[in-house]
Amino acid sequence: MISILREITQWDNPAIPNHEYHVTPGGKTIAYRKSGEGDLIHLKTPMRLDRRYRKFESIGSYTNEEAPKNVIYETGSGGNIYEVTPEGCTCIGFTFHKSCKHWKKHYSRV
Ligand SMILES: [Zn+2]
Repeated sequence: MISILREITQWDNPAIPNHEYHVTPGGKTIAYRKSGEGDLIHLKTPMRLDRRYRKFESIGSYTNEEAPKNVIYETGSGGNIYEVTPEGCTCIGFTFHKSCKHWKKHYSRV
């Protein structure tokens, strides 16, 4: 389940924009939308969302089945989140071997 959070922090500097964050159950941002407008930007490396001194409101969520662009999120053994698509996986194993356990789990053709 991916949660969609909109930042509602009141900054001292009104020029600081608040974005929309797509966050995993583990608290890592996998995508964001600048100022809550335009295209969703997928992070190559999911980043922990620092919530200290900031406020967020939940504006929705989606499951893997509803994720955009056929993306499935797999959590690796080290806690990293990988994006798995029919084309491949973002883990380092796939980069080297053109295959990995995350990808095989969904797209293996035996
Ligand atoms: Zn992988």
